[in-house]
Amino acid sequence: MSTPKLPVSPIELEDPAHSIPYGRQWIEDDDVAAVVEALRSDWLTTGPAVDSFERAIAESVHAAYAVAVSSGTAALHAAMFALRIGPGDEVIVPPMTFAATANCVVYQGGTPVFADVDPSTLLLDPAQVEAKTTERTKAIIAVDYAGQPCDYDKLRRFAAPRGIALVADACHALGATYKGQPVGSLADLTVFSFHPVKHITTGEGGMIATNRTELNARMRRFRNHGISSDHRQRSERGSWTYEMVELGYNYRISDFQCALGQCQLKKLNGWLVRRQEIADRYTWAFRGSRACPLRVRPESRHAWHLYVVQLAPPCDRQRVFSELRARGIGANVHYIPVHLHPYYRQRFGTGPGLCPAAEAAYERMLSLPMFPKMTNDDVDTVIAAVQRAVE
Ligand SMILES: *Cc1c(COP(=O)(O)O)cnc(C)c1O
Repeated sequence: MSTPKLPVSPIELEDPAHSIPYGRQWIEDDDVAAVVEALRSDWLTTGPAVDSFERAIAESVHAAYAVAVSSGTAALHAAMFALRIGPGDEVIVPPMTFAATANCVVYQGGTPVFADVDPSTLLLDPAQVEAKTTERTKAIIAVDYAGQPCDYDKLRRFAAPRGIALVADACHALGATYKGQPVGSLADLTVFSFHPVKHITTGEGGMIATNRTELNARMRRFRNHGISSDHRQRSERGSWTYEMVELGYNYRISDFQCALGQCQLKKLNGWLVRRQEIADRYTWAFRGSRACPLRVRPESRHAWHLYVVQLAPPCDRQRVFSELRARGIGANVHYIPVHLHPYYRQRFGTGPGLCPAAEAAYERMLSLPMFPKMTNDDVDTVIAAVQRAVE
């Protein structure tokens, strides 16, 4: 999403060289070495580093299978394809998410139906899901907003007996747990992204975790044009024949990207600990202030992709945002509710009033810098700037 233009001139920046972004990757020498090794190997794509990264993710999230693809968006598309979403089908999505969560339904010709979020957590509200369910509802996509898992027990208890598939858009939540169970083992399909602002990166990349054998097989074909064998399988068989059995795409990811992902995955747990420390420092500093953190539910391990505060009146979000940016602090807004985007208004007739909790939250929210490489000094700089701006 494009960031709004700074309403201040760059001269007003106190120290632009030390600006703090809202999120940032962390690449070290071992990551570089892993990529170089993959580049020197026989396989640049469809090779052993892809398998190995898939197995590592599957193991870490307690899923039977994981399918690596070229982005989180491709992963969402593959999930919709695997579930055979098509014209006439409805898929329930929250509005408080990145547009790709709803777009993947539209790619398949289905209709995204927006169900509102709980105002205290901004997670999909199971009561709203029930209210928006019809006989055409085929799936629910639950977004683990900011890194906090949704209420999977409630969502599963509602969806499973009705034959509705449960998909987790866990692009914010790699490494999170819900009642002791890792995100990745809680829904029929769980989608992750490895974009540089996410917990671990492959540059661009995504993954779908599942326990369901037939969905795993369909997604593997889907990322490879709908062809029933891949290049390496044919090479190992010494055969040139292949069959395209359904219409897929080229959503493959390369071996050097997966080599990077696997090296990054080793560091995930330490980075989650650091994200929690940063979150704790913010939460402590903002207690009782006009920058109100979201509610954290005790049954989860939060993955803290985002640290979001809601500004209490009379704070003006635009003014606070501009003041932070002028101080070199990369505050951001996650997200403009998807149903308010012009495309959705025009194509599906959505608009203001459809999801009042998400719309109200959007008006007063700010995401503060959150990434493991931040120092305590960086965090304190952000805290001081926020406190000054909200007073
Ligand atoms: C990042 C993100 C995506 C898309 O992932 P890409 O890898 O950028 O395609 C989808 N949903 C959510 C909630 C995200 O944060």
